[in-house]
Amino acid sequence: MNFKLNDEQRLIRRAARDFATKELAPNAREWEETHTFSRNAFKKMGQLDFTGLYVPEEYDGTGVGRLTAAIIFEELAKGCFATAVYVSVHNMVTNLIYQYGNEAQRERWVKPLARGEKLAAYSLTEGEAGSDAAALSTRCVKTDGGYVLNGTKLYVTSGGVADIYAVMVRTDETQKQKGVSAVVVEKGTPGLSFGPHEPKMGLNASPTTELNFSDCFIPQENLLGEEGKGLNMALTALNGGRVSIGACSVGLAQQAFDYALSYAHKRQQFGRSIIAFQGLQFLVADLATELEAARGMVYRAAWLMDQNEPAVLEAAMAKRFATDMAMHVTTESVQILGGYGYMRSYPVEMYMRSAKVAQIFEGTNQIQRVVIARELSKYKGGKRPDSY
Ligand SMILES: Cc1cc2nc3c(=O)[nH]c(=O)nc-3n(C[C@H](O)[C@H](O)[C@H](O)COP(=O)(O)OP(=O)(O)OC[C@H]3O[C@@H](n4cnc5c(N)ncnc54)[C@H](O)[C@@H]3O)c2cc1C
Repeated sequence: MNFKLNDEQRLIRRAARDFATKELAPNAREWEETHTFSRNAFKKMGQLDFTGLYVPEEYDGTGVGRLTAAIIFEELAKGCFATAVYVSVHNMVTNLIYQYGNEAQRERWVKPLARGEKLAAYSLTEGEAGSDAAALSTRCVKTDGGYVLNGTKLYVTSGGVADIYAVMVRTDETQKQKGVSAVVVEKGTPGLSFGPHEPKMGLNASPTTELNFSDCFIPQENLLGEEGKGLNMALTALNGGRVSIGACSVGLAQQAFDYALSYAHKRQQFGRSIIAFQGLQFLVADLATELEAARGMVYRAAWLMDQNEPAVLEAAMAKRFATDMAMHVTTESVQILGGYGYMRSYPVEMYMRSAKVAQIFEGTNQIQRVVIARELSKYKGGKRPDSY
């Protein structure tokens, strides 16, 4: 077992770190407060090859794989969590279209997405279909040469600013899971409109909107794979997405921790630095340990995927653990700063608000536990594959 990053991974991490330090971190607070999505930042990430991480060079990606991608997302999240999240979603959708798309679809959508010329979004959730995604009801009815869509999708990351939407829709009313299909809808298609940016607790540099479909016609070529296979595609994509959200959470927590630790060395009370108090030393020792454990879980789940293991169990565990860890570390970072931590003139309160959403999206942490328990029940009595 080798825990050393290779030369390429170290170089890529350096590039991501430089970009996060110079281009993201100085703007993150302003973007958050002004609800600004930076298209320019996305364009630059395209130039840095961060937009086609799972797609081979043949389709204008880099195909660096899950572990390297996790390292990139971790670094980006140190600069701006919202940016890291939407780029991870973009990569998830680019890969979804690459995996299930035919040659024409790969040419048309995957290549510009992988180059970072177009931005992708993922649309599964609806008002009555959150954790129970198979309950979705956006209708997709077959017509001459294509389909007509009607319905409303909720909470789409990059809604309105993305160019290409992977949308899960109902093609068969008589079936639940098997009645769901995946289609691609391009921005500008007549009948597709967007709700306003939802004001949120955090993550405001990344718009979250409704998608509204009103007699929206899409041609047959926009169906991904076969009818009835959409839920499977959507959940497979989320399996990888969970590792990425875990990676973003590790980066966010590290940023908060580093800030709080540095503060604890500088802040004087009772005639000494507050880090001289054992109460705080034990706290930072625990936070650092949790951070390291989460990073290890995320990297291992990513590595397993790079070995073509499904890693459903490990991805769910990594997402659950890393996002709970980020909530804990960011909350305690506010505590370490005391009253200053609560003030908007210090960054840690923003980190804490950002962390909350990671426990909710790409499957809530309760749903991760459902997945973990389901996976464990397959090994009845400890019979586990060799990769463990
Ligand atoms: C900022 C943001 C961005 C998002 N981006 C996207 C996006 O890009 N695309 C997209 O499709 N969706 C997106 N979502 C939606 C997100 O994935 C859902 O909010 C999430 O899956 C939970 O669904 P819900 O909100 O309907 O909660 P519900 O499913 O109603 O859950 C409510 C509570 O019940 C619990 N619960 C539900 N079922 C169970 C169960 N079986 N066992 C135990 N507990 C359970 C949940 O864990 C939760 O605590 C986003 C959400 C947010 C907040």
